[in-house]
Amino acid sequence: MKSVVIEQPEQLSIAQRAEPQPAAGEVRVKVKYASICGSDVHIWHGHNPFAKYPRVIGHEFFGIIDAVGAGVDPARLGVRVAVDPVVSCGHCYPCSVGRPNVCSELQVIGVHRDGGFSEFSVVPNANAWALPDNIDDRVASLVEPFTIAANICAFLQPQPQDIALVYGAGPMGLTAIQVLKGVYGVKQVIVADRLTQRLQMASDNGADLTLNNAETPLAVQLAGVQPTLIIDAACHPYILAEATALASPAGRIGLLGFSGAPCTITQQSLTSKELSIFTSRLNSHRFPQVIRWMSEGKIAPSKLVTHYIPLDEIERAMTLFEKDPRSCCKVILEI
Ligand SMILES: [Zn+2]
Ligand SMILES: [Zn+2]
Repeated sequence: MKSVVIEQPEQLSIAQRAEPQPAAGEVRVKVKYASICGSDVHIWHGHNPFAKYPRVIGHEFFGIIDAVGAGVDPARLGVRVAVDPVVSCGHCYPCSVGRPNVCSELQVIGVHRDGGFSEFSVVPNANAWALPDNIDDRVASLVEPFTIAANICAFLQPQPQDIALVYGAGPMGLTAIQVLKGVYGVKQVIVADRLTQRLQMASDNGADLTLNNAETPLAVQLAGVQPTLIIDAACHPYILAEATALASPAGRIGLLGFSGAPCTITQQSLTSKELSIFTSRLNSHRFPQVIRWMSEGKIAPSKLVTHYIPLDEIERAMTLFEKDPRSCCKVILEI
């Protein structure tokens, strides 16, 4: 089978590998579509501290179960599935409180173990979620990125009267906008980004107001409007301090970034307004929820997709995704 392998940082190739056999409790997925994410690019360039090499990358993928391991119901054969990349132990403290995404033995498919940019992928049966017929194959790999938005929103508990501010109109910001508007019915969603083309995508995905913060500070543009809910999907260390200054008293701030750089913030800036800060990593059992939203038409994954590219052109696809944020949002690989 063909697999996209990062042999070591900066060494991307399409390798021929033996077809994997599912072990007990696993299924084999014949992958049909997979989408490229920033973390795939980070593994390619050696910027993901968790990745082990060589690695088959890809954690957003869709396919059909074509083999099952011991103990798995054969009725699963032929089922269309989206794969949750979070593999957890089930018994540590975070697992015991429903937070498998920060399991002490966390294994992320496509990061710690081989992923879905491949003709076949073996995954735990419990990670392969069946999809209703009305979710199109061509957008089904996008369940995973929407679970990122679902997870942070589960902490933030958006309300219709919220004034939301989303930093960043990349894929994470756009999924957040769709979930805030389409699922939670938030009255006003404001989006800040430095690229006009990305702000246009934000409008197309439901933003009520877009602000370019390349030159004029947001505080000036907001002119006293205090967001009650802020999501940092741009993930720059400076944002937390600005967000605390902009937020309404009793506001909530959600962080998705993974930067190792410090940020400076005072206790007073938080406690004087009794702000709540939530962080969110990957997703905790959010696949059923997102599949339901997609099936009910509350979110529109096709709005994120700008390119379909065959797996054989993986290097061109990854480069386009990385270098061309003005014209490129989600790239879906045809496998
Ligand atoms: Zn991703
Ligand atoms: Zn665990």
